[in-house]
This record gives sequence, C-alpha cells and structure tokens, in this order.
Amino acid sequence: MSNITVCARFRPLSSKERRDHGDSVCIRCIDTETFVLKDEKEEDIMFSFDRVFCEKSDQAEVYEFLVLPIVRDAVNGINGTIITYGQTGAGKTYSIEGPGILECDEQKKGILPRVVDGIFEHIKPDKMAKYSIKLSMVEIYMEKIRDLFDLSKDNIQIKESKIQGILLSGATEAFFVARYARVSTHTHAYIRTHESTDASVVQDFHSLGKDNLMSIIDPAQALQSLSAGIANRAVGETQMNMASSRSHCIYIFTVQQELTGDKRMKTGKLVLVDLAGSEKVEKTGAEGRALEEAKMINKSLSALGNVINALTCGSGRANHIPYRDSKLTRILQDALGGNSRTALLCCCSPSVFNASESLSTLRFGARAK
Ligand code: ADP
Ligand code: MG
Repeated sequence: MSNITVCARFRPLSSKERRDHGDSVCIRCIDTETFVLKDEKEEDIMFSFDRVFCEKSDQAEVYEFLVLPIVRDAVNGINGTIITYGQTGAGKTYSIEGPGILECDEQKKGILPRVVDGIFEHIKPDKMAKYSIKLSMVEIYMEKIRDLFDLSKDNIQIKESKIQGILLSGATEAFFVARYARVSTHTHAYIRTHESTDASVVQDFHSLGKDNLMSIIDPAQALQSLSAGIANRAVGETQMNMASSRSHCIYIFTVQQELTGDKRMKTGKLVLVDLAGSEKVEKTGAEGRALEEAKMINKSLSALGNVINALTCGSGRANHIPYRDSKLTRILQDALGGNSRTALLCCCSPSVFNASESLSTLRFGARAK
C-alpha cells in the first residue's frame, strides 16, 4: 500500500480568467475521487485521485482529509510531508497560508495555521511529559537554501545526523518547550540557532536561555514568527529581484515528546512544502536569469517526481531512491518514504486557457499514485 495520498484542487475562476477567456472551465467533477479534464484538443481525460476538491471545497475539507492524519502521526513520532504542486496562480500558497497567515476567518484559514493549532492542541498537561516543538522556515532558490527567519543566513547546508536525521545546519529554529510536572507547570520557549548537528535536543533544553531571541509560548506567537518569515521572503525577493513563484518555501515542524519516567523519546517531523510554479517557462522563450531559474526549478521538480516514483513503484530495499539529486529532495529525505506519510495536493486553475498546464500538473499527480 502506498503511503502517498494524491489529491487535486481546483480553485474558482479568477476575475481575470473570466474577463480574458470567459466562464468556460476545463474540469468536470464526477464524484469525490473522479474528474474529467477537457484538453486543448477537446478530448476528455479521466483521472481518479484519492480525493478531488472542486471550487466549492473549503479549506477545512482539505485540511481534514489531507493534513490532519499527518499531524496526528507527527505528534506520535511518525514523519510526514505535505506538498503543494502546480503552476503559478493555481492556489498553492492559498492552500497553505490562506488569504493571509494571520487570517482570522475560521473558514478561510490555510493549512499552516491549522497545523500550528493541531500540533499545539496535542501539548496538553494531561500526561506528565516534556514536549518540544521546533520550527524552521527556509526557501530554496537556484539550489541555495536561505533561512527565512534570518536572511543573513543565505547558504544553509544540509547535514545528516544519526540521531536527528536530516538537519539544516545553522538554520534558526523557533523553539517551544513545555514541561508538565506533578505539582506545577513550567513553560519555556525560545527561538534559537541550532549550531551543533549532533547535540541531543534534551541537552538543548538546558543550554537554552542565554541566546534566546524570541519566545514562542502559544500558537499565536508561532504564527507571528511565521508571518515575519513570510514577510522576510518578500524582502529577499526584492533584494534578489525574483518572484516568490520561482522558489520553494519549506516549513519544518519537529515535535518531540518524552514521557516522565520513560527515557524513550518520540520525535516526529512534519514538513510543508509550497513548491515553485511548475509552468514550462522555457516554452515562453525565457532568457538569461529567467531561463536559469526555470532549469533549476524543472530539475528539482523532476527530482521530486523521480523520488516519489521510486518510492511508489519501488520493489523492496534494493531500490535506489535518488534523494541526492536536488536540495529539495535531500531536505525531504527523512520525511518522504520509509514509514513516513506524504500528501500531494495538485493545484489547478479550472480555466480552459490553462488546460494544458493543469493537465501537466495532474499527470505529475497521477504518476505519484
Ligand atoms: P500559487 O501560490 O499557486 O501561485 P496562489 O495561492 O497565490 O497561487 O493563488 C492565486 C490567486 O488565486 C490568489 O489571489 C488567491 O487568493 C486565489 N485563490 C487560490 N485558490 C483559491 C481558492 N481555493 N479560493 C479562493 N481564491 C483562491
Ligand atoms: Mg505561491
């Protein structure tokens, strides 16, 4: 059985699409899993995914079907990844962030704030335990990893540790720690730089405090720091003269639980990926930097496709999974494959004008099944 859940999501037609290309759509949903796309030659192509979210579907539906099972696993020590794929403007960022990360309208809230709530909900003083949540936020642009919590760190290296798995060396971490003891409750939280690759997180608890930059004591503060990271993304884009659609944005949550009296720890990692736009820029005659960007994006998206295919078609241990072919797949190495769970949300425009890009997005999804 595959650990990959593949869904398609069609956003509503935009006003620009309506104005420029009329109201006709290329998608027809048949049931909750099956839908038909009419391609440029007016031919019907049928797809069957784990779920299709049509334009009327709301954010809560997407979260509950695709993300909530992965959040439940992550807080119980099983890694997971949620990826949004699709051309620029297809609804990837809307699905992850919602209209804004600090959006208060419960219905419109995206996956990210719901994940934050879901993880913190798990941290309840009903068990005597020590919990920690770590959160990093990075961007991959032209195969370079930038720390979105600290733009001065613009070339983060990936390391692998026996204890902690894949690490972003030196990346800033928003750090939340809660300890529930018999008589009283102490909650401490920090944002700090993780310098050592092999330091055990438990030891980190004790060394924290001196270099804390910002405390995260609740979901609201976690969202504030994510919001700052998203704002940083825009600043970096202006500095580098690039559009957000040309980079991959990655959110990494690590949740750790240590029950009192039990030395074993449960650690789960949940990774959210807002991919760069999958559109075929080369065909539009891009030159210079735009062409270089397009090549890098194509390379990493096909590396991702290859990894997912190797995982789904794989026959046992001998099967080689090409994680090292891109920074993206390398970061995802321990949260994609093995016991971990993966959810792929293929985001599409429903407009006939975008039928060919939507088809290519859906084919990527179909190959992952
Ligand atoms: P992408 O990140 O894939 O480039 P966006 O998420 O930024 O695309 O979406 C493009 C536009 O479409 C945005 O203005 C966004 O608000 C709107 N949009 C996307 N998905 C939906 C949706 N499900 N419902 C309403 N508006 C949406
Ligand atoms: Mg986007």
